[in-house]
Amino acid sequence: MPDGSHWQYAAHQMRKFFAVNHQWRYFFPELMVLNHQLQQRDKNVTAAYTRMEAGNALKLHDERQAKLKQHAALLWSAEDRLTALRDEEQRMVRYICQQALSGKLQLHGPGGKNLYNDLVGIVEGQLHVTREETSDMTFNQPLEDFYRTLTMQVHPEGHSICKCGGSAHDKSVAGCLRLKELDTGAAPEGEPGPDYSYAVDEVCAGCPQNIRVKALMPYWAAAVDEAMLALASSSDGVRDAAKERVAFLEGVIAELCYEN
Ligand code: SF4
Repeated sequence: MPDGSHWQYAAHQMRKFFAVNHQWRYFFPELMVLNHQLQQRDKNVTAAYTRMEAGNALKLHDERQAKLKQHAALLWSAEDRLTALRDEEQRMVRYICQQALSGKLQLHGPGGKNLYNDLVGIVEGQLHVTREETSDMTFNQPLEDFYRTLTMQVHPEGHSICKCGGSAHDKSVAGCLRLKELDTGAAPEGEPGPDYSYAVDEVCAGCPQNIRVKALMPYWAAAVDEAMLALASSSDGVRDAAKERVAFLEGVIAELCYEN
């Protein structure tokens, strides 16, 4: 601590500190690993934990800010820390969008393609305007404004990125919420956000909120290995299901391996 004393973490503070750092300090974390570490049965609880509860324990951010603005940081409230959590998410959003625009990252999946088209549309619109004199700041501003409207979280199972936010439109097209509505009658508008209990990879694959990137290939490679094992089953039904699964997985992998 600034006065030379040491902070003694209570167990609950350590859990929150660990959860936030695991989920938000790396761009492509596996939430199920965190779910296992925290011994939480429901992955939605783990996702919420990193977003809200744990925001109160974002000490690293406090410390970083404290070095910049010591007195102001001491006055931070829990609300400030939630804002800081949102900042970490925005770093991921900005990184993904900028990498996509620079051609270093291919965005796949329905949400990835739409996002890329939106980004290109914004840049092209600006290119037209910038034939006149302008500054870099002006050029980047529409992109920065757009980034602020975006939400992204790596799916707990690590297969893709979900960009479903809290707006009524986002939720109305979310594949998992539509499936949940069919199953339980719960209207998507009334849900707080995506429901990972209904978001298996095949549901996400067809969802307009879904972004797939090559960095998450390990999930798909492991899924193919698992499906291949099922091909050896003595049951016709299992083998047929495994064939379908392998075909689906190979389609995803072929898309992710696509090179210009
Ligand atoms: S189905 Fe869509 S909204 Fe739901 S978790 Fe997957 S990508 Fe997100």
